[in-house]
Amino acid sequence: MGDHVAASRTARSGGMIDRMRAAFGGRQSTPGAPRILGDRAVVAGGSIAGTLAARVLSDWYREVVVVDRDEVLGVTGMRKGASHAVHAHGLHARGYLILSDLFPGLLDDAKELGLPVRDFGLMRWYFNARPIARTETGLLSVAGNRPVLENYLRSRVAGLPNVTYRQHADVLGLVATADRGRVTGVRIQERTPGSPEQRLDADLVVDATGRGSRLPVWLAELGYERPVEERMTIGLAYTTRTYRRRPGTFDGPVAINPVASPEHPRGAFFGQTATGDFRLSLTGILGDHPPTDPAGFEEYVRTLPVADIHQAVRDADPTGDAVSFTFPASVWRHYERLTRFPAGLAVLGDAVCSFNPVYGQGMTAAAMQVTALRRFLDGQSAADGRSYLRDVARQMRHPWQLSTRTDLDFPGVGPRSLPIRLHNAYLVRLQYAMTKDPEVTRAYMRVAGLVDPPRTLWRLPLLVRVLRLARDMPATAPVPAPAPVPAPAPLSPTVAASAPSSVPAASVRPPATGAGDEPAGPVDAGQRAGS
Ligand SMILES: Cc1cc2nc3c(=O)[nH]c(=O)nc-3n(C[C@H](O)[C@H](O)[C@H](O)COP(=O)(O)OP(=O)(O)OC[C@H]3O[C@@H](n4cnc5c(N)ncnc54)[C@H](O)[C@@H]3O)c2cc1C
Repeated sequence: MGDHVAASRTARSGGMIDRMRAAFGGRQSTPGAPRILGDRAVVAGGSIAGTLAARVLSDWYREVVVVDRDEVLGVTGMRKGASHAVHAHGLHARGYLILSDLFPGLLDDAKELGLPVRDFGLMRWYFNARPIARTETGLLSVAGNRPVLENYLRSRVAGLPNVTYRQHADVLGLVATADRGRVTGVRIQERTPGSPEQRLDADLVVDATGRGSRLPVWLAELGYERPVEERMTIGLAYTTRTYRRRPGTFDGPVAINPVASPEHPRGAFFGQTATGDFRLSLTGILGDHPPTDPAGFEEYVRTLPVADIHQAVRDADPTGDAVSFTFPASVWRHYERLTRFPAGLAVLGDAVCSFNPVYGQGMTAAAMQVTALRRFLDGQSAADGRSYLRDVARQMRHPWQLSTRTDLDFPGVGPRSLPIRLHNAYLVRLQYAMTKDPEVTRAYMRVAGLVDPPRTLWRLPLLVRVLRLARDMPATAPVPAPAPVPAPAPLSPTVAASAPSSVPAASVRPPATGAGDEPAGPVDAGQRAGS
């Protein structure tokens, strides 16, 4: 891998990347010529956001130290600090573009690693149980295995001469000047029992410790206010199982993604992994969580509005047990609204904003925030840290809007204002129009891929087209017959009782507030592309 990565740093894949840039409209930011801003930057958290931050910081600081509590180098499987990473993950088109800039050769390397790279519009998306008209969009998504992608990015960053990863070490808090106006380092502790607390000095500290970030507490310890948290409770869970592919089934890259909607609230992401096996991630909102026991899992699959998925896994060999991850709410910590924020500190990734994962925005959001970090470093002489936080907030506005508005379509998520109801009424028509018209699919995928802002879906020519195509839209979504119950074994009464053949919105249980992998949770948005 090392040699391959080195070789891949030479510019390659220009044709595909150029086409992607054209699709993006040429708005990719160009970094300024880096200059040295300080001796050391410390990044807390070495997952996706921390690794991307380290890549950018390595251009501006003599030394970059990434601290993670896990062993992260060379890890391509489950690890405790990012247990969500084994569930279906896709990198949106916008994220792919940003990463291609930071990591030349990404496309070829991803293919060599076996990661499926697909055109967004050519995946089999189902909205409201209807397949969309598939079409080439020029927008690529990298899927397969998030830990493999993450390890690839980290290997490249760890290979930079001025970047070091300190593994098995907890970041405990911040160190600041006597007047607390500037952060000057972090307190860390190795995980070996009896290890002393140490101080790691830094000119810039970046918090990328994810959704469970303790930065609000660390700021409070220094006498700063905590950021306001915007939350949308969704009571979501993913349950994922991987299967060996049988010869002759699903040759070529495959992705079948029935997206959850109020009438079909059970969703799934079914696609190939880097090893050619299949991963099936089931999603359930508002407490309707996919079970982990084999019978319950299969029964949940059977109730999906796309029978192909059940057919694919019914007799397939699982490679392990199903694993679950609960996600109570989307959370946006509004650091940009604080009136005081210490110098020498930045924050990014899920630590700022963590969205309902079904929309597949998190890694791309982290990449977008890293472009803000790069802009900040480029103009640092003129700006204080709050200009960076405002830039980050601007980047997060559209993904948050997309995600939360769509989630509000589910009765029980929260009160819906008239604009939200109008938005969602239009969105369901647009999704119906996508079943007929590739032009509509293309427009939608650009927004879902975070390439175009949501307002582009309201442009008059598209709006007219959508309303014309949706004139015959039935009042309710189709209710496809569930996949047949496998013979000969009849369902036990317990399984049958726990698994209705289709889950009407009214049967969705209320939010599982507070239950889950962390204290609160997230949102929606008409689609997530990319698993
Ligand atoms: C089920 C699920 C599916 C998802 N699907 C997608 C998808 O399809 N596409 C997409 O783009 N996004 C998806 N996401 C979101 C994506 O996983 C996150 O946005 C992404 O992981 C953000 O990474 P991060 O680096 O900010 O945080 P994390 O990945 O959570 O990493 C935080 C890191 O900090 C370390 N750490 C934490 N605290 C400390 C400490 N005190 N000291 C030292 N180290 C510490 C942890 O060990 C970890 O390595 C999904 C999320 C979930 C939950």
